[in-house]
Amino acid sequence: MEKKIIPFIDLHQDIADNCLILTGKDFFVRNSLHAGSNEAGFPVNNQSDIFRLFEGGAKLIFGASCPFTLEKGQIVIPKDPFSTLKEQLDFYLNLFERDRRLKLITSLNEYESLKTGEEIGILLHVEGADFLADKSRSIKELYDIGVRSIGLTHNEKNALAGGAKSDGELTAIGHQRLEEINHLNMIFDLAHLNEKSFWQVIKIIDTPVMCSHCGIDFIKKDSRNLSEEQLKAICQKDGLVGIAFTPSFYNSNLVEELISSFRYLRKKIGTEHLAIGSDFDGIISPKLFPELSEVSQMQNLSQILKKSGFNSNQIEQVFYRNAKERLIKKLN
Ligand SMILES: [Zn+2]
Repeated sequence: MEKKIIPFIDLHQDIADNCLILTGKDFFVRNSLHAGSNEAGFPVNNQSDIFRLFEGGAKLIFGASCPFTLEKGQIVIPKDPFSTLKEQLDFYLNLFERDRRLKLITSLNEYESLKTGEEIGILLHVEGADFLADKSRSIKELYDIGVRSIGLTHNEKNALAGGAKSDGELTAIGHQRLEEINHLNMIFDLAHLNEKSFWQVIKIIDTPVMCSHCGIDFIKKDSRNLSEEQLKAICQKDGLVGIAFTPSFYNSNLVEELISSFRYLRKKIGTEHLAIGSDFDGIISPKLFPELSEVSQMQNLSQILKKSGFNSNQIEQVFYRNAKERLIKKLN
């Protein structure tokens, strides 16, 4: 009997960073997990490309643009973050030109017109909006080229807010920019904010909200993992929690930890707020879950969820329904 493929929406993949900065791979070549090499000498993975996306059953990917450069192996914010960001957005826009099976998604209508299994949507996401410190720049210029999802910081603090690995907080400019995001009704991403900024932002933000790629404190205390109170606050906003496969969010690469995470989340916030935010192509570590180390393996997750006692309706909720209901449907 042929196995049923469940299409999925992935709230976070770093395809542009991987192709342009981390490994230099070609998205239109079938790559293997460790084919990429990195000049800075740290182990980077190569987890997504057009072939493996189709194999895994991808329906819609949030394609992140995260403007950074590597200097002596360290991730640093470039002097002109806008031009680095623009290069990454152009990278995605160019994919649509090169292969008509890839579609830019900016609305529910566009999402619904995707031919499942034959076409893959990409929703443009900006991870780290450092360029917004420059008052002459507006979020509207990103919106106009198709960006529909945004987060203020990466791990460090910037002129807007405090990143997960910093002590910063929401600033006056950051607050102003949130009003702009509210006005445009873009999807807002809480991932990468530190806890103080998280609580400041969640009071102000009034758009579809998610924590796109994270883990949970219950499994491991980590600045990128969420506490029970944070998880509940996201639910109160009718938001979504995207579970990542990033090794640093867990204690080991045993899939049991992933199972415990899903079970805990189901108990605390219910399956209707759960989603996938793999972080594929952005994971810098050799300690991957063997069952979920690249996007072609995504259907293994349905087996894992089944093992955790999720029924087929709940698995479909996690794979695509919740992201459609709580995010895509609410776009203008
Ligand atoms: Zn990230």
